[in-house]
Amino acid sequence: MYSSLHLIFSLLLFSCVNCLNDPNIIIIGAGAAGIAAATRLYQNGFKNITILEAENRIGGRIYSHQFGEAYIDLGAQWCHGQENNIVYELVKDLKILRDDEGTVRLYHSKLKLIDEQFSMKLIDIFENTYGNESNNERGSLGEYLIKRYNEEIRAAWKNDVNKLALAEDCLDVFRKWVETYEASFSWYNIAASSTYEVCGGKLMLGWNGLGYKTILDVMMQKFPDSKSPIPIDDRIILNKEVEKVLWASTDRTEIKCADGTNYSCDHVIWTPSLGVLKHGYKTLFEPQLPIEKINAIKAFGMDAISKIILHFPKRWWNDDFEGIMFAWDPSDLQRSGGAFLEGPQKEGKSWITALSSIIPVPKCPNLLSAWFGGEFVPDIEKSSDETIINGIMYTLQTFLSVDYPNISLPNKIIRKNWYTDPHFRGTYSFETVESRKLDKPQGEIISEPLLSEEGKPAILFAGEVTNPIHYSTVHGAIESGLREADRLINFYKHSK
Ligand SMILES: Cc1cc2nc3c(=O)[nH]c(=O)nc-3n(C[C@H](O)[C@H](O)[C@H](O)COP(=O)(O)OP(=O)(O)OC[C@H]3O[C@@H](n4cnc5c(N)ncnc54)[C@H](O)[C@@H]3O)c2cc1C
Repeated sequence: MYSSLHLIFSLLLFSCVNCLNDPNIIIIGAGAAGIAAATRLYQNGFKNITILEAENRIGGRIYSHQFGEAYIDLGAQWCHGQENNIVYELVKDLKILRDDEGTVRLYHSKLKLIDEQFSMKLIDIFENTYGNESNNERGSLGEYLIKRYNEEIRAAWKNDVNKLALAEDCLDVFRKWVETYEASFSWYNIAASSTYEVCGGKLMLGWNGLGYKTILDVMMQKFPDSKSPIPIDDRIILNKEVEKVLWASTDRTEIKCADGTNYSCDHVIWTPSLGVLKHGYKTLFEPQLPIEKINAIKAFGMDAISKIILHFPKRWWNDDFEGIMFAWDPSDLQRSGGAFLEGPQKEGKSWITALSSIIPVPKCPNLLSAWFGGEFVPDIEKSSDETIINGIMYTLQTFLSVDYPNISLPNKIIRKNWYTDPHFRGTYSFETVESRKLDKPQGEIISEPLLSEEGKPAILFAGEVTNPIHYSTVHGAIESGLREADRLINFYKHSK
């Protein structure tokens, strides 16, 4: 009797010590935040890590697709900034980033190429009004920018009615720019001020054909060489969609997956997007999330953009082509639905008017990328490749046929429909007018861990949306993964 009790006691003690030394941690999602958390934990001696990933690949919204010799990014593309930016910090000495900022030309549906000096001034106005919002603004970015833009253009062209009228037409270009950059279906939903902090330095640093996936390899020590990688790959299980996280009933957290498998662990680090949380907060967690967290999930914004890569067997642009934006004459805009009949329309306007810009793809001479923003994005995702190709051709012909008489047909498009994909349900998050009205940054509330009855962090929340100052970005996602890994590391340091 004594010996069997002793044995049980020793086993319990062993498992407890073992659990303290190497707790079982499950990370949900192998995107930037999940990989960052896993590498930081591993480097701090936590080896009992499993990453459950719903997709058949790692990276999440980092999705570098091989095209010939180079990689093209269907998700994140640029490192936004050099100061206080973990992505830049991690790769700066490798000298692999390249400034992709180019001079984008402005075309008008009636006037064709808009005078260079005029469009440069207009773009200056865009850049100076957008990003200089005062922190006291409480309305929408749309309302704020319309007001500021109108003040600026009236001051700039008060004596030139034609230029002023053209600048007025170009407000729509500005709207598309903002809705694409913020990935919001309407600039009236975006808050005029937010807690986001722009990183200093260059904002459009691209990967020069290596793909943003390089950052994952850098974190896992597989790039620039793979002599001593952090063995995270072995711990990732792909095609493993988590359906439910059961927490707080016991000291263990249980996970149920869509394929019928179950897992049990000491801690979960949750990293899927705000879109996934918005859609699934009622069923993904049992017991349900606290009401403040649910309110924050509802209040913060997550819509989408469409980035579509076009392959042209015959190149019709030159090496000096750095991109174009499209300004519709108001009458052409209103008639666009009647003029181009294929695909979705709203109030007589065709989806093609949502095309914000077309820019070159580094290292891929036959590719261009087309960027769509705003309310048409969900419908664009549902449109066939043929409709997309026809619509883009129609637009290119309408705007560019004078300067580029040899525009050829793309024979292939490459795209990822982020909004309809149940593992993402959008591209990246934004501060809404509603979330801004609430007293605390809502990302901070989403990031608060859920504690078990014993006070142990049972579910920790990472992912870009949980970063109040760098949400929406890869650097924000990585910081959040490191933050939650550190939370666990510190928890075990203090429980020893
Ligand atoms: C088109 C596009 C362009 C972008 N451009 C830029 C840019 O230029 N610069 C920039 O900094 N950022 C950009 N971003 C944003 C950036 O990609 C994201 O902020 C960042 O990658 C998010 O990382 P994450 O780890 O928080 O989330 P995710 O990358 O979404 O990772 C979460 C993971 O969880 C998985 N998952 C979801 N549900 C489940 C489930 N039920 N069970 C298991 N796994 C699940 C997902 O498959 C995913 O792999 C862009 C994003 C998109 C889509």
